Amino acid sequence: MDLNQFETQYDHLAADVPALKRAIANKLMYQVGKDPISARPEDWLQAAAYAVRDHLVERWMSTTRAQYAQDVKRVYYLSMEFLMGRAFGNALLATDLLKPLKQALSELEVDVDALFELEPDAALGNGGLGRLAACFLDSMATLGVPGFGYGIRYDYGMFRQLIQDGRQVESPDYWLKNGNPWEFPRPEVTFRVRFGGRLEEQGSGAATVVRWVDTEDVLAMAYDTIVPGYGTLATNTLRLWSAKATEEMNLKAFNQGNYFGAVEGKNHSENVSRVLYPDDSTLSGRELRLRQEYFFVSASVQDLVRRYLRTHASFERLADKVSIHLNDTHPVLAIPELMRVLLDEHRLPWVQAWALCQKVFSYTNHTLMHEALETWPIDMFGRVLPRHLRIIFDINAHFLGELTRTHGHDVELMRRLSLIDESGERRVRMAYLAVVASHSVNGVSALHSDLMQQSIFADFARLWPERFNNKTNGVTPRRWLAHANPGLATLLDSRIGHGWRRHLDELSGLKGALELPGFLGAFRRVKRQNKERLAALVARQLGVALNPDALFDVQVKRIHEYKRQLLNVLHVITRYQRILAHPDGNWVPRVVVFAGKAASAYVMAKNVIRLINDVARVVNADPRVGDKLKVVFIPNYSVSLAEVIIPAADLSEQISTAGTEASGTGNMKFALNGALTIGTLDGANVEMREHVGPDNIFIFGHTTPEVAELKARGYHPREWVEKDGELGAALEAIRSGVFSPGEPDRYQAVYDTLVNWGDHYLLLADYRSYVDTQDQVDALYRSADEWTRKAVLNVAGMGFFSADRTIGEYAQDIWRSAPVQLPPLRRGGTA
Ligand SMILES: *Cc1c(COP(=O)(O)O)cnc(C)c1O
Repeated sequence: MDLNQFETQYDHLAADVPALKRAIANKLMYQVGKDPISARPEDWLQAAAYAVRDHLVERWMSTTRAQYAQDVKRVYYLSMEFLMGRAFGNALLATDLLKPLKQALSELEVDVDALFELEPDAALGNGGLGRLAACFLDSMATLGVPGFGYGIRYDYGMFRQLIQDGRQVESPDYWLKNGNPWEFPRPEVTFRVRFGGRLEEQGSGAATVVRWVDTEDVLAMAYDTIVPGYGTLATNTLRLWSAKATEEMNLKAFNQGNYFGAVEGKNHSENVSRVLYPDDSTLSGRELRLRQEYFFVSASVQDLVRRYLRTHASFERLADKVSIHLNDTHPVLAIPELMRVLLDEHRLPWVQAWALCQKVFSYTNHTLMHEALETWPIDMFGRVLPRHLRIIFDINAHFLGELTRTHGHDVELMRRLSLIDESGERRVRMAYLAVVASHSVNGVSALHSDLMQQSIFADFARLWPERFNNKTNGVTPRRWLAHANPGLATLLDSRIGHGWRRHLDELSGLKGALELPGFLGAFRRVKRQNKERLAALVARQLGVALNPDALFDVQVKRIHEYKRQLLNVLHVITRYQRILAHPDGNWVPRVVVFAGKAASAYVMAKNVIRLINDVARVVNADPRVGDKLKVVFIPNYSVSLAEVIIPAADLSEQISTAGTEASGTGNMKFALNGALTIGTLDGANVEMREHVGPDNIFIFGHTTPEVAELKARGYHPREWVEKDGELGAALEAIRSGVFSPGEPDRYQAVYDTLVNWGDHYLLLADYRSYVDTQDQVDALYRSADEWTRKAVLNVAGMGFFSADRTIGEYAQDIWRSAPVQLPPLRRGGTA
């Protein structure tokens, strides 16, 4: 084909304002189909999004062409969750179109900022794990790694959290209501995904052929979203699968007047991509969840094998051209699925298929918490996926056979390592399957990777030490600094140049700026403006007035017992009681900000939300307290809310029990935006302390070995209460209904969990050290310059925590993939 016939319109150059205006007006009329006279803000948003998206399409096509021409190794990142947030601002960064777009829209008399606020978040994830996947996509594109995200296009994303009478109420998040201008539906890219049925065997021994028959099928249809790299032409794809029934409807039933029955089957099969499970740590809706997992990995594996076979005649080079990364255990069914495709559809011998699998797959572990380690009962598994259960049994037999050859007939070892847990109801251990089938198993912080090899995978780590490694998480500086904190971005540009967006290590240059006249003041002014922005949001949403000169103390993340929001509450209550005891004291004014969702079935987490709101109501209304202390719970935590809250924080609360948080990424976003951390030596906090310097972070509490020792010795929470009067008083206030006067025993269970039922996460053991450290926080905040110096040193030390560094390590050590080669980006803009 003569490609010269296809005139490229944008040629990677930033557009001028008149061209953008024309494009937006065109999109509004001819694509959205709206008369400018009657167009709603939502219509303008769509039109503007289409106009900007056009600028990414040529890059996308040239990247894809280059990937084929260079026969690159592709990396497939399989994840149940992608917490992408809004796309518009990110696309404007990548295209450098923010300024001209604002100008164009204002000339069209459209309120730009209100427009951005209308875009719904793509909240296809619960929390950190899904947000990590989103940051990784951004970094893969930016580094030119030929990466594809594969996941599920849930009709309903993470629920919207309302707070009614202090309690969490969940409402469905139908994010696609107004259409999604960022996605390209691909009805021609559709795969059949099979469930149920039974197995038929033909032949015997090595020649056995297994046929999987009488299945119930669902179609998986692709929707593609462009993932732009920053400062490069390289542009990747997020491909999400949506379930479509194999038959639109039963026409016979319809004609007989059975309208419900006519679409019942359709609705049933399409349920598989209906909702994101509102919980990433326990398995609810179990069988549907299993179906979801298989649905998206089956479509993904079929798709990537098809893509590979377009340019390769045999599977010989599969491992040179394909990496499949498993983001936690949710996509582990990709392993037996690839085996099935190779064995049953392409008739490869077992040995060859298995060798390919071990070279292709790699796995990231995200939690050591027992309840989050996925296992599936054999009978359910066999009912839904009989062929895959058979393959897993075969993998297990080969594995245990090999183990016997190398380690003798050690029954105890086999019992511990078997892919099937035989201790009660027989279950498939998904994490073990991932370890056995992958060439690389990584944790997400130095501490977590060590603990992983000492605890859940200790036997495997002795067996295959070379398989285990660490890749400390990172976050994308584009979204979490350039986009979320334009004030700080501008200040950085003026002191250290623009390069930090792409090379975050350049932040260390700030150390030199510390002594420059006016720098600390300028840094403080930026923080102050961000605090005013957050205060305006809180005034609007909650009607609570915040003093922007107060210390903003922030804990925003999923509500979970191990993250210990309740420890924060205990400190708030102690502070409240101290203020009441000395109302005329010289207090450092504080605003304590909480936000976060609780899994809908997690009763204790929901109790904690209610307690926070009850404490806030009492404290905020107490005239003796005034500005000395304010407490707010901001509803519906999300990526776009985080983008407003995090830049406004002075203090970042990262206070999980040591040994429980795998890494955390919220911790990184805060420090990058100039907050000081108060935290335990948990997850990536350990490495953050090394990078920002131990004098610039507030560390408290028991360390991981101390936690283990305390538990081994026998932990008796009551003893800790008895020797600490302030702790006793705070707990007593909760128990006796100071914050729930209408229902004094409302928090009896919260109290009991801590005092009488073992305090599993050791809040009471860490309370004194936490509260004393909070006093040090106050003392430092009184010296504005000292505080600001440390805040700057936090920003300066965060270069290591760029997701670009993390992805560079994955690409080199795990995927062994090289970047696609593209001509440099020609830009008209500033960066
Ligand atoms: C970063 C982020 C998280 C993860 O926060 P942690 O503090 O690491 O648990 C969760 N949700 C959203 C919306 C985020 O942006």
